Parts: sequence; structure tokens; C-alpha cells
Amino acid sequence: MNDPSANRPKTETAAAPEGRPCVICGRPSLPAFRPFCSKRCADVDLSRWLGEKYRIESD
Ligand SMILES: [Zn+2]
Repeated sequence: MNDPSANRPKTETAAAPEGRPCVICGRPSLPAFRPFCSKRCADVDLSRWLGEKYRIESD
């Protein structure tokens, strides 16, 4: 009853084994910045996300 694979989500079985590409620019993501390739892309995503949230709240 100790199956470590049971902990893994089965949502993307056919995903690339090397990891997902950066959601911003599509380059290979780094473990330190997943799911991004760099802090810059992480900041871009964060600002986008905040921007949308602010637009929703101010609407
Ligand atoms: Zn990137």
C-alpha cells in the first residue's frame, strides 16, 4: 500500500518528460522558477495576474 505514484496527479500523462515549457515565452522552464524559465517571466506573469485582478475589482 505504499505506492509513490499514487501521489502524482494524472491530469497530464502525455506531457513532455523534460518538464513543461515556460508559460510566458515557451522556453524550457527551470526547477528554480517553475513553471517559468526565469524570474523575469515569473514577474511578467505576476504583473499580468495582478493587472487582471485590479481590472476586475475596479470594474
Ligand atoms: Zn520564460
